[in-house]
Amino acid sequence: MKNVKNKRTNILYGQADPLPVMEHFYTLQGEGAWTGEPTYFVRLAGCDVGCHWCDVKDSWTVDENQYYPTTDILSWISETGAKRVVITGGEPSIYDLTLLTDRLHEAGLLVHIETAGPHPLQGSLDWICLSPKKFLPPLSEYYEKADELKIIIYNQHDFKWAEMHAEKCASNCILFLQPEWSKREQVTPMIIDYIKQNPKWRLSQQTHKYLDIP
Ligand code: SF4
Repeated sequence: MKNVKNKRTNILYGQADPLPVMEHFYTLQGEGAWTGEPTYFVRLAGCDVGCHWCDVKDSWTVDENQYYPTTDILSWISETGAKRVVITGGEPSIYDLTLLTDRLHEAGLLVHIETAGPHPLQGSLDWICLSPKKFLPPLSEYYEKADELKIIIYNQHDFKWAEMHAEKCASNCILFLQPEWSKREQVTPMIIDYIKQNPKWRLSQQTHKYLDIP
């Protein structure tokens, strides 16, 4: 991917080093297949997906002062003793993650990505969590690569949409349905009923929000 700048969001597509970081922190993974695992989160700035229910809208645009060399990112993580890193966003597939993921692997870290998959994946990942969004669908390459499919359920129509994505994934991909946080009281009972009828799915909850873990 060439370095092309989106003037409205300041996103530099294909950028590899330095990378814009919105926030980074060591915590427990709160959702999906690795819930409860100590994990260092690197949230890259910049997202062109535009979910109306997005809970990190501050990540959509990039500020000039958010750029950090990959060596800095590695040193933040190394200081904590973390063994596992999640690269998230924003939308991390905007960037060329080859250098960052190589450096993290050289340091002995396991590297995950959480992505909606709208841009070609650049980098070497140990775990790919694909969370497709209606507003900018994933590229087909993500379905065969995904270790985990996480569908956010906002309303009843989303179950059909979830099945459409699940059909495209590999047979060993773990399938999760997760309530959209603001609708959790309405949709969680619907998800539980649906999973009982369709047991290939599992429930993912945002445990970090229930437990107030940053
Ligand atoms: Fe927000 Fe993620 Fe959707 Fe981007 S893809 S708008 S960061 S929820």
